[in-house]
Amino acid sequence: MSGKQFTVLVTDKVSGGSLNALLDDDRFEVVLIDDSKDPSFMEALKTANGLIVRSATKVKAPMLDAAPMLSVVGRAGVGVDNIDLVAATARGVAVLNAPAGNTVSTAELTMALILAMVRGVAEADASVRKGEWARSRFKGSELRGRTLGLIGAGRIGGTVAKRCRAFGMDVIAYDPYLTDENAAAMGVERTDVGAVIERADVISLHVPLTAETRGMISKESIARMKKGSFVVNVSRGGVVDEPALAEALTSGHLAGAALDVYENEPLEVESPLRSAPNLILTPHLGASTSEAQELVASEIAEAVRAALAEGDLTRALNAPAVGGEVLRALGPMLALGSGLGNLASAMAPGGIQSIDVRYAGASDEALKPLTAYVLMGMLKPVLGADQVNFVSAGHLAEQRGIKVARTQLSGHADYTEYVELVIKAERGELRVGGALLGDAHPRIVRIDDYLVDIVPAGTLIVLKNNDVPGVIGRVGTILGNHDMNIAGYHQARLSKGGQALAAISVDGEVDLAVRGALLELPEITAAVVVRLG
Ligand code: NAD
Repeated sequence: MSGKQFTVLVTDKVSGGSLNALLDDDRFEVVLIDDSKDPSFMEALKTANGLIVRSATKVKAPMLDAAPMLSVVGRAGVGVDNIDLVAATARGVAVLNAPAGNTVSTAELTMALILAMVRGVAEADASVRKGEWARSRFKGSELRGRTLGLIGAGRIGGTVAKRCRAFGMDVIAYDPYLTDENAAAMGVERTDVGAVIERADVISLHVPLTAETRGMISKESIARMKKGSFVVNVSRGGVVDEPALAEALTSGHLAGAALDVYENEPLEVESPLRSAPNLILTPHLGASTSEAQELVASEIAEAVRAALAEGDLTRALNAPAVGGEVLRALGPMLALGSGLGNLASAMAPGGIQSIDVRYAGASDEALKPLTAYVLMGMLKPVLGADQVNFVSAGHLAEQRGIKVARTQLSGHADYTEYVELVIKAERGELRVGGALLGDAHPRIVRIDDYLVDIVPAGTLIVLKNNDVPGVIGRVGTILGNHDMNIAGYHQARLSKGGQALAAISVDGEVDLAVRGALLELPEITAAVVVRLG
């Protein structure tokens, strides 16, 4: 045992020199085992709180099961194909990646390919090596004054834009999330995808692979491109229809193309791309520089440190992306959400089918983490604290067929920070609400239509009773007879002499005998015990 607060196991030859964020923090013990097949790796896994891998180590269910203390897996790089996200989520393990460290290297490879493409560098080189001196065959074109069409203007697209502008190109871009402000800052003209395809001399793709981008560069879209234009793809295979591209190069409709990524990697031997003219093929080299490897390693080390030490899950792929600062600021509201979840779990009439988490308050970022805390509070009493945490709660709710909705309310008449759960269960509905008093003091303020004022901590007995004189005394006597100390008694009613609700905070646990004795009182129609927190 190291005696340190956290142990992080690092494998796949992630260089120790990039791990300063962890090495310089006294709370962390870093264990470097370069090969995860080494028996010492599985031994170290037993006590690891964090694990950092590249792509070689396969982090699947058996490995996760062998790591009972693990809460964070960091991938030094972007793609997480080697990590089973579903298995990690179900076990409450956050998976982080390091998407930014590759940016410049990938943008520079894009530049290398664009320049090589418009000047025929690869084919000229091959020709000289064959003994030829065919100068007239390799007349290229300048980039200056030409139009670069970006599809995807995120980190890499934006970096390519800047470099192409330095070459005197005009840059137009399509990205559904690009704002006018960001476009202006990048010096690009924001336009639609059709205009990029039809106006660009060089089209460069920098998008993720999604249902929308898959096959985006198709036979039809290529036919709409200018004759003699160029296409470069350093993003993801699958965005380009490979046979259609090969055909457009063979017919001469496209003057050239360059690919670093493919539908299937490694590229099949019989792929039509291998024999297409004016095409440069590289084997997924975007991030293959020593600088990128170092940068992604230090980026992931910092992300794993922040996740373990500060609860900062901004980089998590399988949890609500919230920073440590946001979590800290939202602390009282999240505690309230968890308490309301506890209450909902105990009071819902039958199995919960759907829940709507409704929030009115100052934060734009509260709803996602708040929902996770509500679900944690709701599921922990049922599934146990081992299984349910911030990462797994949403997934577990979904697995149990619970529909989860989130609603941002415009405000609340009485409270500045308010949250309400609207629950549909097998035999009816339940509505519970809470608010912050003075910014930091959580209170449960509503149970169905009853207005209450309950601190969400300790043990709560919620009774429904007929509003007749003497009930409070009789309930007090029963609790006293069972040595239960009442910390707070809150009675609410909808109308005089009708149904009333009592919320009683008590010290210690409430056993079944107490609940049974309360239910024997003729005025009591329901009794629920809730453990809050
Ligand atoms: P990013 O998330 O910063 O940018 C992606 C951009 O694509 C976002 O701005 C997003 O709004 C936009 N986008 C999403 N759907 C779109 C659509 N339908 N049409 C147009 N734009 C759309 O990511 P990034 O770091 O710039 O990476 C871009 C791509 O490059 C990713 O696919 C990444 O996996 C890939 N990549 C490849 C290599 C390599 O080795 N070749 C290395 C690093 C990254």
